[in-house]
Amino acid sequence: TTFADLGIAEPILRSLITENYLHPTPIQEQSIPLLLKGHDLLGIAQTGTGKTAAFALPLLQALSAVPYKHSPKVVRALILAPTRELVIQIHESIRVYGRHLGIRTASVFGGVSYNPQLQALGRGLDILVATPGRLLDHMTQKNVRLDKVQHLILDEADRMLDMGFVKDVRKILAAVPKERQSLLFSATMPGEISKLVSEYLHMPKRVEI
Ligand code: AMP
Repeated sequence: TTFADLGIAEPILRSLITENYLHPTPIQEQSIPLLLKGHDLLGIAQTGTGKTAAFALPLLQALSAVPYKHSPKVVRALILAPTRELVIQIHESIRVYGRHLGIRTASVFGGVSYNPQLQALGRGLDILVATPGRLLDHMTQKNVRLDKVQHLILDEADRMLDMGFVKDVRKILAAVPKERQSLLFSATMPGEISKLVSEYLHMPKRVEI
């Protein structure tokens, strides 16, 4: 199987060739066609399986397929992850995969100054990658608008739970439109995660690696 077989289109395929991604990993092979069709997805997978590309490639393709004019502070796709390291890593991967697309992305996380983040948010974004705490700060200060979010991804949901972010995540999700595509990735499925899935995902397809 190739990425082209899965439905990934030209400008993204070029980035994958540069990265020497010759074949999709199992989670990519199973998830990408479902995501391109617009399904919600529950992914049970560890880091190292290629799950970042599994969600990022269909997301980039969906966003670049729709003609769009940016508005101040408006975000089209939101990715939440538990730690700044993971946020930085996801953001970097998205930049690599999307380098031929002219897509606008930014990351926000705690422990650094607000100003550069504020400027990036101010222009409006295709994709925002964030830790819950810092994003909530920006929401409180009205630095960002989530009322047009069409794609939502919760990565390493079980770690967000362990780190005590579930309340923050729920507050953030309350600001996002109900009509959207939602993905949740988790290495384990404790009851609290199943609850989030049934509350926030709509008839999700389940992929377990
Ligand atoms: P992840 O599980 O998303 O953290 O990815 C783990 C590592 O695998 C990263 O270094 C990716 O760059 C790499 N990777 C992801 N998908 C592929 C692929 N299809 N072929 C080769 N490497 C990949």
